[in-house]
Amino acid sequence: MSKQAPERFVNSLQGCLLGSAVGDALGLACEGLSPRRQTSLFPDLSHYHFLPGKRGMISDDTEHLCLVAQALLRSGGEPRAFQCALAWQLRFWLLGLPAGIGLATLKGILKLWLGVSPEHSGVFSAGNGPAMRASLLGVLYATQPEKLKALNRISARLTHSDPKAEWGALAIALAAGFHTLQHPQGEFVSQFRSLLPTPLPPEAQELLTLLEKAEEQAEQGREQGLSEQGQQAALQSFIESLGCKKGITGYMYHTVPAVLFVWLLQPKDVVAGLQLLIRAGGDTDTTAALLGAILGAERSSEIGSAALPPDLLKTLWEWPRSTAWMSETAQKLLPLLESESPQMPQKLAVWQLPLRNFIFLFAVLFHGFRRLFPPY
Ligand SMILES: [Mg+2]
Repeated sequence: MSKQAPERFVNSLQGCLLGSAVGDALGLACEGLSPRRQTSLFPDLSHYHFLPGKRGMISDDTEHLCLVAQALLRSGGEPRAFQCALAWQLRFWLLGLPAGIGLATLKGILKLWLGVSPEHSGVFSAGNGPAMRASLLGVLYATQPEKLKALNRISARLTHSDPKAEWGALAIALAAGFHTLQHPQGEFVSQFRSLLPTPLPPEAQELLTLLEKAEEQAEQGREQGLSEQGQQAALQSFIESLGCKKGITGYMYHTVPAVLFVWLLQPKDVVAGLQLLIRAGGDTDTTAALLGAILGAERSSEIGSAALPPDLLKTLWEWPRSTAWMSETAQKLLPLLESESPQMPQKLAVWQLPLRNFIFLFAVLFHGFRRLFPPY
């Protein structure tokens, strides 16, 4: 059982989903742009740039988190039932023709449709897809490590079979639920080590080394009391040490250390952290969605709905998975802490999805076209 009171726990689940949505939507217009180009196109990152009227939409990152929430409700979090439920969530999600789906995720879901079992549908890739699905598992099950590891493995292997995908996703899950364990943040890496198998697989050792480096450099940054510019420079230097010259790539061992570096650097609030990460460039919707989920869960547990700016929640233009839908879905997850009884999944007007996805695709194409023109 979590050490948190139920109300704080619900806040945390809601903050996780909504924080992912805010980060995802804020990072979306900047995806794939260099830091210099995104600053000239979008100098103000305090609001969205995806749709006219400073409005934003979510992408696959937050959609996958919503799929996990629905699969948890349908299965009660019982591992075999969760595997089956999440596989069906992914299959039907693909039928909505989502724009911007990762290649490994696409192949994995196609294999599911062709009848390959969920144990073997993943393709050998260390893309960051499984990390998108991990944070909610971490918030729910941080205090039940065996269950967390089992559900994270199931979720990762549905689409990605490279062990790096599983370990990277597990690190994101632990970070999102870390506040429920009530350990000092400085113990994150040692706690993560305790979740890994012994003897340590080489891929897990590689991630552990990267996270130790992130923890050490973030601690130096905190001790120096860096300004925002100083934090940006520290992040830049850290991602360059990972081998990222043009922004943070979608490779799990680039994405996860960079996101956790910013989390460990302790930016002053959720939006400041998101802005820092987005300005580093690369796969900005995913990196910001992951950090948004972690910070959203943590800060919402402390201060409730004030953790996320009301303006950014209000200007999210989403349906049928609206912010209200996400809040209600998160709330329904609470009984799973104590029981594996399946719950009623949150109702979703699926017939609205093709229209919603068509508008999303149109906006993505518009941004692609817009990038051909100045300012460069
Ligand atoms: Mg995305």
